[in-house]
Amino acid sequence: MTTKIAIAGAKGRMGENLIRSGLSNQNTQIVGVFDVTDIDETFLKKVGLPNTVKTSQEESFIAADAIIDFTSPPALFSFTESAVANNTSLIVGTTGLEKKHFKLLEQAGKSVKVFYAPNMSFGVNSFFNLARKAASQLKSFDIEIIETHHRHKKDAPSGTAIKLGEEIAEELGYSNENFNFDRQQKSEERKSKEIGFSSIRGGNIPGEHTVIFHGDNESIELTHKSYNRKIFSDGAIEAANWLVSQKNGLYTFRDMIT
Ligand code: NAD
Repeated sequence: MTTKIAIAGAKGRMGENLIRSGLSNQNTQIVGVFDVTDIDETFLKKVGLPNTVKTSQEESFIAADAIIDFTSPPALFSFTESAVANNTSLIVGTTGLEKKHFKLLEQAGKSVKVFYAPNMSFGVNSFFNLARKAASQLKSFDIEIIETHHRHKKDAPSGTAIKLGEEIAEELGYSNENFNFDRQQKSEERKSKEIGFSSIRGGNIPGEHTVIFHGDNESIELTHKSYNRKIFSDGAIEAANWLVSQKNGLYTFRDMIT
């Protein structure tokens, strides 16, 4: 079965990768692309799409089985509304989401199919499992997460770093209360059950994440490096193909790979 997809934020860095991944996947057909500024024929020609594809949000939500959203958090207010109104599945890769955005996803998941992953790469999601396993064996070690991204990234720490922390926290019975995002604010010793986060920005790095387990006199580091954004766009297209045959609900990457 072919999944008809539309891509929100088509002109963005991820948007253009999603178009390439969508065009090369034999189970998907791109029926819509839209962005905040108009999509014209020159753009369609550049990315190899026919001028019959829909180029507005409204038409895309009507024509597509699934919308793929890698845009910005405020867009979720109208995307979840349009998804519910048109019974369109929604795949969200946008990061920097806050509680109010997660509530929108949960609410929409009651009447349509919604998929959210702050990192759509299969390798990164396997990395989460490896980090959980390491944490379960290294209970007395101090845990620090370091992430590096390109100079244009706006949110910090990355959604992936937070998700990595959440996975480890869940494994160890910790909560977000154990997270330390800013060591500069307080001059105090590191707490034993803390998970610390550090962010580095520069160049055109698509994303690197390291979790370090520091013991007394020894350390273990696990690192995942993304060499390009194709890993995220290919994963998002696979998620769209998988999601359309599920029941209504809010799903994560783990639901797809287990
Ligand atoms: P970008 O700034 O290059 O592109 C975002 C695009 O979305 C822009 O073209 C912008 O005009 C468009 N946009 C914003 N609001 C919109 C709206 N309401 N309707 C339609 N289009 C809208 O950013 P990017 O590097 O492509 O990243 C986009 C998001 O995806 C970020 O949150 C980033 O962190 C996230 N991201 C997630 C993953 C993942 O695997 N989940 C991977 C990479 C990036």
